Amino acid sequence: MYLHGTSTINQLGHLEIGGVDTVDIAGRFGTPVYVYDVALIRERARGFQRAFEQADVKYQVAYASKAFSCIAMVQLADEMGMSLDIVSSGELMTAKKAGFPMERVHFHGNNKSPEEIDLALDFGVGCFVLDNFYEVSLLQEKTLSKNQKVDALIRTTPGVEAHTHEYISTGQEDSKFGFDLASGQADKVIKMLKDDAYIQLRGVHSHIGSQIFDTNGFVLTVEKLFSQFTRWKEEYDFVPEILNAGGGFGIRYVEGDEPLPPEHYVADLVKAVKKEAAKADMAVPEIWIEPGRSITGDAGTTLYTVGSTKDIPGVRRYLSVDGGMTDNIRPALYQAEYEGVLANRANETAADTFAVAGKCCESGDMLMWKLPLPEVEHRDILAVFCTGAYGYSMANNYNRITRPPVVFVEDSQADLVVKGESLEDITKNDLPFRSKERV
Ligand SMILES: *Cc1c(COP(=O)(O)O)cnc(C)c1O
Repeated sequence: MYLHGTSTINQLGHLEIGGVDTVDIAGRFGTPVYVYDVALIRERARGFQRAFEQADVKYQVAYASKAFSCIAMVQLADEMGMSLDIVSSGELMTAKKAGFPMERVHFHGNNKSPEEIDLALDFGVGCFVLDNFYEVSLLQEKTLSKNQKVDALIRTTPGVEAHTHEYISTGQEDSKFGFDLASGQADKVIKMLKDDAYIQLRGVHSHIGSQIFDTNGFVLTVEKLFSQFTRWKEEYDFVPEILNAGGGFGIRYVEGDEPLPPEHYVADLVKAVKKEAAKADMAVPEIWIEPGRSITGDAGTTLYTVGSTKDIPGVRRYLSVDGGMTDNIRPALYQAEYEGVLANRANETAADTFAVAGKCCESGDMLMWKLPLPEVEHRDILAVFCTGAYGYSMANNYNRITRPPVVFVEDSQADLVVKGESLEDITKNDLPFRSKERV
């Protein structure tokens, strides 16, 4: 069994995280519950930061908050000196309520609404990552009417696409995000903003994919970007001061996943940027990255209670837990794979493999198909590892199931950081048939 971060098996044979017995957590907060190993989140952030410090370059590590956003997480990101990526007014409001410094917030997204742009400008968001021409015009209008300056990066599609293990180099990138390099769309933005008094174009951005296990794609992207930089310098006198290489650094979900340490991704990236900058005779730009999954993914564990079981002789043995695609939609959405253990009997050897089903009315609501476990009993606590990214953040109320609470553990302390939804919450926005709200 692979144990992440501070996870251990204690003398009672229970899974322990951050010095806290997970069986106690299940007892105290109920199940399902998301448990985060705060020390591991810190270590992941430091890993990226350390490598930049060692390479002696200017940098920002921006946590992509879509992976897992709540006030406590945003505060932890701030404490760790990270910047913050947001994609919506909801993620922005979370940052605001967390007291996150707005100058270190980067606003992403392929369809920022006029209202969201207003809110971001009013809050003083530090950097807009420009995605499309409509947004550029909107931002020009708004900054002019508010007489407000803002920094911006151009999101480019460099024609490198990471498919986890392979890279597809495409001439014409087919993506809903960003400006195409090959056809000159990025050039057009540079021209549009050249004499803009309010929008300060400071650099370029690219994000090539997710759950990437090597650095080839990042190196290739840097090369493709620099091939434009030389031309941009000559044609528009535009020299990007910031190169944002995006996120997508892989993590270990299951055996066979072999991600690089955070330090390694950064070291190769910096090396490529330095090499290309030297070749182009340009100053080394400030390098930004945007890890999401690799900050919080393996730090999260979901605890469930085992309920019903069903054996189909010669076919499969099912067990059902008290959550499923409502708290972790990734298996249903991407055939994502996970590992897990019985938290209350973590030291027992496996007797068979089990298919772990959720409780929703969907055959596709499965968390795992072949999990080796001891003979399972009703009321056992099942821990599913590596649920810290795109778990809670994608949680939903399908079947009107309540969203679970989130607990942070560190130094033998457990803190509730997001309350679980109540049954009252489920209907709190509902209005009766023929309500007075009718218009
Ligand atoms: C999703 C996303 C990230 C984070 O991706 P991870 O795979 O979670 O690291 C970073 N930047 C952008 C623009 C993204 O869309």
